[in-house]
Amino acid sequence: MKEITIMNTSISIETLFESMPVAMVLLNRNGEHVAVNQALASISGSRSEELIGRKVEEMSKESGRNIIRDFRMFDANQEVPDHEVVIEGKTFYVSVRPLRNDTGYAIGEMVALMDITKTKELEQQLEETNRKLLSLSRYDDLTGVLNPRTYYEEAEKKLLSGQVSDAPCSVLFLDLDHFKRINDTYGHGAGDMVLSSAAKCIRQTCRKNDLIGRVGGEEFSLFLPETGHNDAIVLAETLRREIEQMEIKVENSLVKITASIGVAFKSESHQSIADIQREADCAMYRAKQSGRNRVFSFRGVPDSAEGGTRSDD
Ligand code: GH3
Ligand code: MG
Ligand code: MG
Repeated sequence: MKEITIMNTSISIETLFESMPVAMVLLNRNGEHVAVNQALASISGSRSEELIGRKVEEMSKESGRNIIRDFRMFDANQEVPDHEVVIEGKTFYVSVRPLRNDTGYAIGEMVALMDITKTKELEQQLEETNRKLLSLSRYDDLTGVLNPRTYYEEAEKKLLSGQVSDAPCSVLFLDLDHFKRINDTYGHGAGDMVLSSAAKCIRQTCRKNDLIGRVGGEEFSLFLPETGHNDAIVLAETLRREIEQMEIKVENSLVKITASIGVAFKSESHQSIADIQREADCAMYRAKQSGRNRVFSFRGVPDSAEGGTRSDD
């Protein structure tokens, strides 16, 4: 074997190959190990000489399949892109190069494998952390609905895209009635439980495309895309009833709550979500003034009995 001289000392290529920290193997076209270094043999817990002559697919079915593809590509004068394989539960970054004879025919391939298991684990942890951070930056911790900034941003986006298609849309503004009494009677922790139960009820009652934001302590705003006047009133009334029927178990008591809901609809005079929200606010305020546990629309809905729907015209 050819030797390399360094500081008057001869070192064989075999020694160099063996001492490399990167796992390396020379494979023939049958996928058999022709030469391997110890770093490669260690992947399968073997000694390098034990692997000579054995097929690579014995170590990894995936690598066995890759070999067929590699030589097909070499024969078509293509390069095999670097890729990843999983062997014995570890992930390796794999680089493959052909060994060609004088006529250019690929007689074997050199494969280098770098263990990137730790890097992959760190990547996954980072992705998970990023997911959590994104969730924290978008959602309200207690109720799981959108926080005010995200809610208004998303609603504004939907509103603008709706303006293009000229679709109707509505906003419901929901405020829990006499919520302070819940805190005063049962404590702040119980109040939190009631708040998250109310949010759950809202989530379950709304549709997939509706946006829900917790825009104040016990206040929720709902943006209903492609929802006209009548449908918004029906949804608001359903919500009011669902909340009224909830029974939240707090210690040994069953707590009941109600909500006042203001409804507003997009019209040509609205420039932004804030304009519609202002009208929903107004309607909600009127619902409170009229005795709470009511749906009030900013305009255009006939009056009805207590606990029902009113118009703010
Ligand atoms: P109204 O029917 O007029 O809306 O009466 P209200 O008591 O619901 O309204 P008010 O604005 O007087 O009180 C709201 C209460 O909501 C006061 C505040 O302590 C409570 N609150 C706000 N955020 C939270 C929270 O995150 N957790 C709990 N437990 N309470 C909250
Ligand atoms: Mg309030
Ligand atoms: Mg309230």
